[in-house]
Order: sequence, then structure tokens, then C-alpha cells
Amino acid sequence: MSPSRHAVFGHPVAHSLSPRIHAAFAAQTGIALQYEAIEVAPEAFTASLASFAAAGGSGANVTLPLKEAAFALCADTSARARRAGAVNTLIRENGGWRGDNTDGAGLLRDLGDRQGLDLRERRTLLLGAGGAARGVAPALLDAGIGELFVINRDSARADALVDAQEQPGRVHSRYYTDLTALGEFDLIVNATSAARNGGLQKLPMSLVGARTACVDLSYGEASIPFLAWARAASAHDAVDGLGMLVEQAAESFALWHGVRPETDGVYAELRGRNAALVTAD
Ligand code: NDP
Repeated sequence: MSPSRHAVFGHPVAHSLSPRIHAAFAAQTGIALQYEAIEVAPEAFTASLASFAAAGGSGANVTLPLKEAAFALCADTSARARRAGAVNTLIRENGGWRGDNTDGAGLLRDLGDRQGLDLRERRTLLLGAGGAARGVAPALLDAGIGELFVINRDSARADALVDAQEQPGRVHSRYYTDLTALGEFDLIVNATSAARNGGLQKLPMSLVGARTACVDLSYGEASIPFLAWARAASAHDAVDGLGMLVEQAAESFALWHGVRPETDGVYAELRGRNAALVTAD
């Protein structure tokens, strides 16, 4: 039987560990799978995806900055993708694409099951309002966090994310210039791609208290500046996005193949290569 054809689309995508992760899941479950990384600029995404489908592509992941564009081209979307307005998983169905978003579920699996963090009632700061932020915000709210403050360079995007949650008493939009007045947070999530785009604004250490967990959705080199800041501010936990990456991939794999792979072995293998980049104590 010829392998089913999958890919991750992004710009840039060379740093992606997804091909490696899906190859490991395929080997573990005995599913024949071809999974490649396809670098594509936003203006060429629709045409590139159409060529992929014409060549037999049956499923894809989508990473920055294409998740909102992916949402727009789907014939059908899951409820969680609609809440996010962003798609990270495409499933070929009836000659079109069905879109889902596994980022939020992946983050919760990692923070809850792997890192052992109880998110309930945590006063939360979310930095960024791009595709990843839109995927994780509804999941964090559903997991029972307390108030959520969203800050983004482009404040209209933060406002849109906040409005989409439809919880005005609980979810608020703020500016980077407000940060020093906001006090301590129990959970700080960096969902920006700032480390690859000129660096994040200086964050005051007053955001961090004795039990604060700082989570960077990025991993590898891109997570170093934010995690270094978290450690310097004596955060209780400093977690990168590697575990989320493996868990969101497992959710995508299950959507395509009907089997949820075991993730601990793949995570441990990748963590071995990134050991210096996470602490959780
Ligand atoms: P998008 O391109 O959709 O959004 C990028 C976000 O970063 C926007 O909010 C943007 O703000 C902000 N940003 C970019 N540069 C800066 C800067 N210099 N200062 C402040 N903010 C900045 O990307 P995604 O949302 O898809 O991805 C964001 C990050 O999350 C990436 O690092 C990605 O690797 C990671 N990620 C990790 C996953 C995992 O499984 N671990 C899954 C998904 C994403 P503005 O709107 O103002 O431009």
C-alpha cells in the first residue's frame, strides 16, 4: 500500500520538528506515512495546497503565519477551530478541506498531564494574538483559568481575540505600556513569534510571583529569551512549547489515522536534544 501523504506548511518551516514527530508516530503505530515540510509564502499558500491535494495529499498541518488563511479556505471546520478562527490541521474530505485546531488541546495535555500544573483560577497573561494565541485562549478559559489579559503589538488583533471569547467580565485587552501597572500573574503565556522577529518588548519582573508558571509556546532557540527572563524573575515554572508540539501533533495524527499515538517516548527523545531549554520545578 502506498503511504498516505501529509505535510506541514509554514513560513519559515525549516525549524519544524513535525516531520520527525510524525515519522516516530507512524513507526510506533505501523501506519505507512510520508510527511514533509513545505515552505510557502502566504501569497502562494492556496496554490501550493491545491498542488499538494492534486498530488494525493490527504492531511496537513499549518504553522505560522498561515493558520488564519487555512481557516478561510476550509469547506468545513470544527467548533474549536471556529472559536479560534485559526486552523492548524487540515483533513482532506469530499474533494475539499476540513479544518481543526489542536493547539489548545495540545497545550492543556502538556501543562496538565506532563508538567502537572493545575490551571484553575490562575490569573493569566497572554502575549500575542496570532494563530497560536487564538488556538490556546479558548482552551485555557475552558480549563478554568481566572481572568485573562491579552496584549499584542497590533492592539486591534488583541481586541478581536478578546471579543471572540464573549466573556467581557473575564477576558480583557491591554497594551504593552500597561504591563507595569498590571501586577502579578499566576500564568504567563508567550504566544508571540518575537524571538524570530526582532525580539519581545522588555517585560517587568513585577509580573512574576512566587507560584507563577511561565510558558513559551515556541521551543528550541526561539524560547531562550523568554525562558531566561522567567528564570531571572524566579518563576516557579518555566516551560517551553516542546511538549505542546508533541501533543498537538498526536491530536492531529489521531484525526487523520483514528489512532492516538503514545507521546512520552517521542517527547523524551526530543527533550534529550533540548535538555537545556526547559525547567519545571
Ligand atoms: P502568527 O504569525 O500567527 O502570530 C505571531 C504573533 O507574534 C502575533 O501576535 C505578533 O504580533 C507577535 N509578534 C511577532 N513579532 C513580535 C515582536 N517583535 N514583539 C511582540 N510581538 C510580536 O504566529 P503563531 O501565532 O502561529 O505562532 C506564534 C508562536 O507560537 C511561534 O513562535 C510558534 O512557533 C509558536 N507555536 C508553537 C506551537 C507548539 O505546538 N509548541 C504551536 C503553534 C505555535 P502582531 O499581531 O502585532 O504582529
